[in-house]
Amino acid sequence: MDYETVRGADPAVADALSAEVTRQQDTLAMIASENHVSPAVMEAQGSALTNKYAEGYPGERYYAGCEQADVVEELAVERAKQLWGAEHINVQPHSGTQANMGVYLAVLDPGDKILSLDLTHGGHLSHGHPANFAGQFYEVEKYEVDQETGYVDYEGLADAAAEFDPDMIVSGYSAYPREVEWDRVQTVADDVDAYHLSDIAHITGLVAAGVHASPVGVADFVTGSTHKTIRAGRGGIVMCNEEHADAIDAAVFPGAQGGPAMHNIAGKAVGFSEALDDSFVDYAETVVENARTLADVFQERGLTLVSGGTDTHLVLADLRPSHPDLTGGTAEDHIADANIVLNANTVPGETRSPFDPSGIRAGTAALTTRGMGTAAIRKVGHLIVDVVDAAANERTDEVIPEVRAAVADLTDEHHLYETRGAFAVQ
Ligand SMILES: *Cc1c(COP(=O)(O)O)cnc(C)c1O
Repeated sequence: MDYETVRGADPAVADALSAEVTRQQDTLAMIASENHVSPAVMEAQGSALTNKYAEGYPGERYYAGCEQADVVEELAVERAKQLWGAEHINVQPHSGTQANMGVYLAVLDPGDKILSLDLTHGGHLSHGHPANFAGQFYEVEKYEVDQETGYVDYEGLADAAAEFDPDMIVSGYSAYPREVEWDRVQTVADDVDAYHLSDIAHITGLVAAGVHASPVGVADFVTGSTHKTIRAGRGGIVMCNEEHADAIDAAVFPGAQGGPAMHNIAGKAVGFSEALDDSFVDYAETVVENARTLADVFQERGLTLVSGGTDTHLVLADLRPSHPDLTGGTAEDHIADANIVLNANTVPGETRSPFDPSGIRAGTAALTTRGMGTAAIRKVGHLIVDVVDAAANERTDEVIPEVRAAVADLTDEHHLYETRGAFAVQ
């Protein structure tokens, strides 16, 4: 991956692209929303389809010359249906946020009411944060996780729904380590006659592999991103029953977007086909096993985990009980210095600012793609806590170089691109 052609045309960008490959090779990607796609997905995303305008849908495009765009989009849809089992799937959303926008536009009017999880409890901007369009166009009320247990407070959700009378309830989260009980949310939605949007952005791959319960067939709408636990390149998808198919298609295009990013849809098609291989189930199972291992190490070393563990690809540690003077932001910076990239995150009952919150969130999807199993993950867990402890004891000068060296051993052992076996499908 030396970007020779780019280099000939634009050395400055080529330098940055090469340096980014090196960065990804030399660091451990533990931001829970990130992963590494295969070279095949990247090649498809870099294909000539970036040139093609294909407004509309296969067989009913606005412009001529869409034969190959149709082939690619139909393959992406067909494979997505095999992965998630929905009656109708739209693969055009540019991102998870655009997928959610498509759902809102399909069935809500401006001013309608959305009930969603508080951002500091694990929700997402596109579920109605005031800084996002959803918070500006709709009236938004929040439900929470139980601060004692860290699990969604389904009874509190029912109470909030009875009081607020929402038009839509949103489930599915960004920083929630536990399995979501979709049917309990659906029962609440039925009781107040609201639509239920289940946003599985983080767990699309886990749901496709059957290692997390599926909301398909339960919720009215299911949205996802295609670049997190499913390794199909950047983008979004919307799933629904036939009943809502036309409304969703019209809401995505022309409602929310113009022409589809056909090169990214090609990436989705290739990534979905990789995920249909049996090896993807092993991958997803290992992702969860690795997250459980990481949770165990964190707890053995004295960290407090929101919900006390994980059922998914991510763990969320609340640093306040173990390291009361260390913010998530400071921890993140020191851990990044040691070449492990994760993020500071708010925790339920957050007492600091969202810009420098009290928790750290770490995911195992990308490391599992690199071929790491529980032994490597145990090492990584200890390295992270070594840095956290050092940051609290002002010993970072001594400890970070040691951790960096140990990270270098791990990244050498689990090479990103040369060891093609790191990917589920070549
Ligand atoms: C990541 C995420 C999204 C999608 O975000 P984009 O950056 O727009 O792709 C949507 N919902 C949730 C819950 C997410 O975590």
